[in-house]
Amino acid sequence: MKRIYFDHNATTPIAPEALSAMMPYLTEEYGNASSIHAFGQNAREAVEQARASVAALLNARPAEIMFTSGGTESINHAILGAVAAAPGTSKHVITSAIEHVAGLDPCKALANSGVDLTVLPVDGEGLISPEEVLRAVRPETVLISLMLANNETGTIEPIAEIGKIASEKGIVLHTDAVQAAGKIPIDVDALGVDLLSISAHKFSGPKGIGALYIRKGTPLSPLMYGGHSERDRRPGTEDVAAIAGMGRAANLAHSTISQEAERIRQLRDRLERGLLGRVAQSWVNGARAPRVPNTSNLTFPFIEGEAMVIALDLKGIACSTGAACSSGAVEPSHVLMALGLAPEDARATLRLSLGRQNTQEEIDFALEIIPSVIERLRRLSPTYKNPAIA
Ligand code: PLP
Repeated sequence: MKRIYFDHNATTPIAPEALSAMMPYLTEEYGNASSIHAFGQNAREAVEQARASVAALLNARPAEIMFTSGGTESINHAILGAVAAAPGTSKHVITSAIEHVAGLDPCKALANSGVDLTVLPVDGEGLISPEEVLRAVRPETVLISLMLANNETGTIEPIAEIGKIASEKGIVLHTDAVQAAGKIPIDVDALGVDLLSISAHKFSGPKGIGALYIRKGTPLSPLMYGGHSERDRRPGTEDVAAIAGMGRAANLAHSTISQEAERIRQLRDRLERGLLGRVAQSWVNGARAPRVPNTSNLTFPFIEGEAMVIALDLKGIACSTGAACSSGAVEPSHVLMALGLAPEDARATLRLSLGRQNTQEEIDFALEIIPSVIERLRRLSPTYKNPAIA
């Protein structure tokens, strides 16, 4: 059976170039990057070359890039480290209702330990308002942490405008750019951010490796202690192979972003238009907001997203739903709820996220399969009323 992967916001296949860049460091070049002999020096060179590539992707300086174990660690380090390093005893943090749990949960942990937390709402398209950010700022605000692109809807948040507010008020600004890197150009200066998190496996690199951009001079406490690597900011022997793979993936993203983004946007738009045209009573969430080019979040009322994902998987199409299974119960997505969707509509949502290897033939195949699967599931749904018959 032909299998089609439309779940690139969950993870991407590794690019062959990134895999080749890793291989020497998994085999003959096994040195520890901290050793002074030739083995160590070769490993160090690979790490520093990758650091320069990641810096170039973000328009940053290599010394401002710290490698981590992925997006979750980068985000935790940014949030917990910035708050710990801020002076004073009374501290306030601003975040939003649509952050990934990797950002929401450390904020909640801070709130449980006495930090004041403001969780900003979003509008019906999923956008954070810079005016609301400004209104939420207090004299004791030490950190604003807001995502650049949302993982479910793909909406791009007005971080550059918020960056101006943060810099005028002297507040540290962190952005979770995990779903933006490799999809849209990122410039840390244009955004005005002090801290920015990315993860290699979202842009054709390996899993378990990420980076945190730390603007020079930004106060940030370490999360762990135990050595001098990464400029005393993150101890532990570097995963040289993963770092080399991330560097190569960053190169690739940097050099191909404009043509790939346009190609993928055309595929996504064809898929979206085709589905909206073929499936009555359906809509795209965040359609009127700026969005990353690969993501489409569609609601098909009257059916369970999980049932759609399973039925599509049986037909060879991999995608995900607007709901997450937590403690055995299917919870509607907190992101879609924040946009104002009813819980049953949030549950009736599919996320289709495209990537480099998707083709027009795959889109056309999906346009045959997805509407028929929805039609079949709707016929089985006790709540569905076909407007053409009713
Ligand atoms: N932030 C966002 C927006 C994400 O989509 C993800 C992954 O899904 C993460 C953070 C976590 O990244 P990682 O899987 O590298 O820990």
